[in-house]
Amino acid sequence: MTITLTRTQAPVVVDEEKCIADKGCTVCVDVCPLDLLAIDMVKNKAFMKFDECWYCMPCEQDCPTGAVHVNIPYLVR
Ligand code: SF4
Ligand code: SF4
Repeated sequence: MTITLTRTQAPVVVDEEKCIADKGCTVCVDVCPLDLLAIDMVKNKAFMKFDECWYCMPCEQDCPTGAVHVNIPYLVR
């Protein structure tokens, strides 16, 4: 059995196929109370800039295309 202690995924993942930041959307960036999300200026897609999520969920709920997925850790559920 392999035990891994490093996390391979940020808590908030953006599906770049669905994200329409390249069309001007900044909803998830605007709603995050902790300012954790940003638009990647090279790819023009949203991404998690700081990994300090409160799992409050508006980024996932308000994204118009359903591109944001918040991975809530088991212990917080
Ligand atoms: S709200 Fe959704 S579509 Fe808009 S920038 Fe964020 S991830 Fe992209
Ligand atoms: S769940 Fe809340 S704290 Fe985490 S990225 Fe989304 S809006 Fe920000």
